[in-house]
Amino acid sequence: MRDAIQSDLSTDLLDWYDRNARVMPWRVGPGDRAAGVMPDPYRVWLSEVMLQQTTVAAVRDYFTRFTTRWSTVQALAAAPDDQVMGEWAGLGYYARARNLLKCARVVADDYGGAFPDTYDALLNLPGIGPYTAAAIAAIAFDRPETVLDGNVERVMARLHDIHEPLPGSKPVLKNKAAALTPNTRPGDYAQAVMDLGATICTPKSPACGICPLRDPCQARAAGTQTDLPRKTPKKPKPTRYGHVYIAQREDGALLLERRPDKGLLGGMLGWPGSDWSDTPVNTPPFSADWQELAGEVRHTFTHFHLILRIWTAPLPAGLHPHRLIVLDKHAFRPSDLPTVMRKAHDLWRNR
Ligand code: SF4
Repeated sequence: MRDAIQSDLSTDLLDWYDRNARVMPWRVGPGDRAAGVMPDPYRVWLSEVMLQQTTVAAVRDYFTRFTTRWSTVQALAAAPDDQVMGEWAGLGYYARARNLLKCARVVADDYGGAFPDTYDALLNLPGIGPYTAAAIAAIAFDRPETVLDGNVERVMARLHDIHEPLPGSKPVLKNKAAALTPNTRPGDYAQAVMDLGATICTPKSPACGICPLRDPCQARAAGTQTDLPRKTPKKPKPTRYGHVYIAQREDGALLLERRPDKGLLGGMLGWPGSDWSDTPVNTPPFSADWQELAGEVRHTFTHFHLILRIWTAPLPAGLHPHRLIVLDKHAFRPSDLPTVMRKAHDLWRNR
């Protein structure tokens, strides 16, 4: 049962949110919400999937492009896969885009285009894990679910001066967050804690002097706020190596591949290439006098760093290697490539 202190605390936070809510293209602000406007669950879902592992600043333009092109979940469900993957290019974590399409099609086909409104039902949809289900249930449907992202973890660790390191402390932090979640305005409250973490209780320099939680905050009282949350040190990432082959025909057409659905960059357009390993095998897609470009492409994925060497050769007229795509120069958009492939493109263009 929530006690009076907890109730005051969430009320203080909601008051602060009423005055300081960030404006975001997918958000219905507290004023409109008080007037009865509810957010479109499609926009909440789309923003939450895009925001997994990505910053608000990086997501804004993608969100606007997606919702301009596909304004409803039914429109997105009907979109060809390659168009959606192309619009997603550059946002990273491409399994999210594949699951986005799967989820849109399930909602369109099995739910008549209306997102289910409970945590459990949302959790059953493709690409929706516990965090995203709680966020959609709270923000779109005003359910008192506990939303625990990195911002909320930081606020809870500091508010309660919890020194146990992440990720082991997650269950404790979740319990603390759950104890504060109010039954009135839970959607606004979920966004209020996230906004507090993003704008006031920031990782390196929390602005405790203007924080609505400064009085009850235990880390502030103890002077430990910038040490929290503690994190178990991560293992250093290994480095892998690879080769990429860029071949262009005299008329400008380029040789590309659609990567297999399963695996890294699954379903995305890219340059043909070798495996990515300690000792990649240099196996160009056809025999030619391949020339190596000066420089290399460096990119970091979640679990490893990648260094790519780039090779180029003219693509003979009439040659169309098995399983590869020869794309007319007018049909080629560098923006359709995932970031690592775009880096290779940019190195080649600027050679
Ligand atoms: S008082 Fe400081 S450390 Fe505590 S919640 Fe507020 S900003 Fe974070």
